[in-house]
Amino acid sequence: MSQLFQAVRGMNDILPDVSHEWEFLEDTLRAWLASYGYRQLRTPLLEPTALFTRSIGEVTDIVEKEMYSFEDSLNGEKLTLRPEATASSVRAVLQHNLLYPGPQRLWYMGPMFRHERPQKGRYRQFHQCGAEALGFAGPDIDAELILMTARLWKQLALPPVELQINSLGAPEARQRHRERLIAYLEGHHELLDEEARRRLHTNPLRILDSKNPAMQAMIEAAPQLLDDLDDASRQHFEALQGMLHAAGIAFRVNPRLVRGLDYYNATVFEWVTTALGAQGTICAGGRYDGLIPQLGGKPTAAAGFGMGMERLLLLRQEAHGALPAPAPDVYLACSGGELAAYALRVAESLRDAGWRTLFHAGGGSFKSQLKRADASGAAICVIVGEEEAGRQAVTVKPLRGQGEQTEVAWGDLAATAARWCVTAPADTGRSG
Ligand code: ATP
Ligand code: MG
Repeated sequence: MSQLFQAVRGMNDILPDVSHEWEFLEDTLRAWLASYGYRQLRTPLLEPTALFTRSIGEVTDIVEKEMYSFEDSLNGEKLTLRPEATASSVRAVLQHNLLYPGPQRLWYMGPMFRHERPQKGRYRQFHQCGAEALGFAGPDIDAELILMTARLWKQLALPPVELQINSLGAPEARQRHRERLIAYLEGHHELLDEEARRRLHTNPLRILDSKNPAMQAMIEAAPQLLDDLDDASRQHFEALQGMLHAAGIAFRVNPRLVRGLDYYNATVFEWVTTALGAQGTICAGGRYDGLIPQLGGKPTAAAGFGMGMERLLLLRQEAHGALPAPAPDVYLACSGGELAAYALRVAESLRDAGWRTLFHAGGGSFKSQLKRADASGAAICVIVGEEEAGRQAVTVKPLRGQGEQTEVAWGDLAATAARWCVTAPADTGRSG
């Protein structure tokens, strides 16, 4: 016998028993994004490799070791499965000149690919939903992005998540800070791990993002970007904090917060939980005014965030357990054979009226069909038997303990179903 195939490590099948949780999350996200006037952008999963090396930065975890890159065997083109979607979004916006009529609020949702060590909340194919606000320079849009996410946590009934914010300042201020930081890190050379030594002169800011416990105390005492902030960035940051206070959003200024991607400036933020171990960041974002010109566009302000959808689902489950799976309203039992043609029409008429109807295909004894009907979670079983069919009728058997089994004329069935089915027709039946 040939060997069974397995999915690629770190890439998960989402099975029918849990896919309704994903559908619930996706539906919630779509409605929430629409309520803020964001419009969806769908881009390809494959992009030219150079798009990511240029935007995310050569000396970053993603570009150094996490990208799935290969050469197209036909033309030698270097391609990469997208590790994130901000670069792709900006690429599409520039390619199609979307900013010509004015600023844009965009969102995306879908799989991303990073070659990391798989663990809870960290996978090689994972899903992000993100928003990008392009062409807005002020702190009000930073505040809007944060207020949006705060509303989402409420809508998903997440346990408390902490908002951390910081400002990375303007490029010149970062340059000043960079020199101070390099001098400081050189003074502690013996404490730096191999990766930090390699990054010391290429990307010292990223050393502050290191998760190596042996370096934490040294990192804590390092010079802070906030002390080197330029006036404009300081005012921007203070205005943002004022708006968050006014909106009643609690936050902590974390001077150590730097993002793992090179393109950020000024505001950066993360929503962090302690409930998911080391995979505590459920949402990360900030301002990236430099990215659009870096990718060949006219200087344009930009800000956005990305959320890990697996982490949102994990966090929701930790607090509330699994969402109940949606069940059909009606299970339609039928002995098969000649009656099937009639039973199929009865089932269609129920769906016309909005009832979710599961048709028992393949016949078999009524006893076994009733067992299946019960297991399906349906509210009622509609039994199509020979005798009732002759009278253009069916038998209705309530499955959840309400009422007696009765014969109903086919013409009255759709209206009658409301007596037993708890949900209104066409209601998705989802709670939460
Ligand atoms: P981390 O520090 O956890 O590696 P990151 O800084 O690399 O995160 P971003 O590139 O900012 O993450 O991506 C935004 C969000 O996407 C993260 O906050 C997280 O929720 C989610 N995310 C990132 N990488 C993964 C992954 N490998 N598996 C699952 N979710 C992920
Ligand atoms: Mg990462």
